[in-house]
Amino acid sequence: MTVYAPPVQRLITELSKLPGVGGRTAQRLAFHLLRAGDEEALALADAIKEVKERIGLCEVCFNLADGPRCRICSDERRDVTLICVVEEPSDVISIERTHEFAGRYHVLGGALSPIDGVDPEDLKIAELYERVRSTGVREVVLATNPTTTGEATALHIADGLRELAPSVSVTRLASGLPVGADLEYADELTLGRALAGRRSV
Ligand SMILES: [Zn+2]
Repeated sequence: MTVYAPPVQRLITELSKLPGVGGRTAQRLAFHLLRAGDEEALALADAIKEVKERIGLCEVCFNLADGPRCRICSDERRDVTLICVVEEPSDVISIERTHEFAGRYHVLGGALSPIDGVDPEDLKIAELYERVRSTGVREVVLATNPTTTGEATALHIADGLRELAPSVSVTRLASGLPVGADLEYADELTLGRALAGRRSV
């Protein structure tokens, strides 16, 4: 038996699925939306709808894009011979904030984790190899998270690239990043330094 009218319960349930939002916060947010004017509450609903309708993945690097290609892949000034490999689109934002990187990106869509059923075919790894094979890439920077799964992913790709394209330089972010944490939690200075001091793997 639920104490709320079904539509209210539905809203609480949906909100509680958001990362970092527990049942209590979901309830607080739902009551905030119920109290808010139609305009404010529906602006949120509209923003969600628009982002789902208009934003997809870049056909080249799998970053978020509001057309076939993301802003970075459409920017002629960005070095096409330098590719930074990251797990998620949010990592692109973290690295862009450092202003230390002038190349392009490749977003894997996660990290290898056999326990969770994430295998190489589930990530955009084959697409990365194809990019390296078909364009004149000179360096691939592996900027996966400094976590167990991120490290395993970097090693897997480094091995693959050594076999596929021995002339391409493969580098990894320098240490100094908090081990076990995600890139998005690193401050700009630390991440910028880790990028500038990247080393061969
Ligand atoms: Zn792109």
